[in-house]
Amino acid sequence: MSGESSKVKEVPPEEIPEAELIQCPCGRFIKAPSEYKLLYLKKEQNEIDILCPNDVCYLRELGFVKFKVDEKRKKIMLETAAFYPPFVTWNAARLGADKAHNILKQHLREIVTKYIDWNRVKEDYFKRLEESKAKSEESSSS
Ligand SMILES: [Zn+2]
Repeated sequence: MSGESSKVKEVPPEEIPEAELIQCPCGRFIKAPSEYKLLYLKKEQNEIDILCPNDVCYLRELGFVKFKVDEKRKKIMLETAAFYPPFVTWNAARLGADKAHNILKQHLREIVTKYIDWNRVKEDYFKRLEESKAKSEESSSS
């Protein structure tokens, strides 16, 4: 039973063939979830945009993360994290639906757990809350 050569070869992430990688319809390959750009601009909607790493991408927005806030307990809770249909169907067509969905799910999980700075989101939210409270008190007392 010696000399078995059925060892699973571990492929480092940078050597995954392009045909196995997630790709934006603009042509940009996304090897790791760290490559997405995260943009927290839609603050009123509690939404963080997931953008293509390609600056000149015609789609730009590939997905979003939405959160809820428990103002009493000062807690931020994840509501939804999803990629938009054009990005999902593009990859499902290339990789097969199951495979694409699995990888994209993994990407979303990592975006949410590793790459969004929830402390900053929370800080920002409650700072704005205080500011708007101060403003409404100002206007109601005058
Ligand atoms: Zn793109």
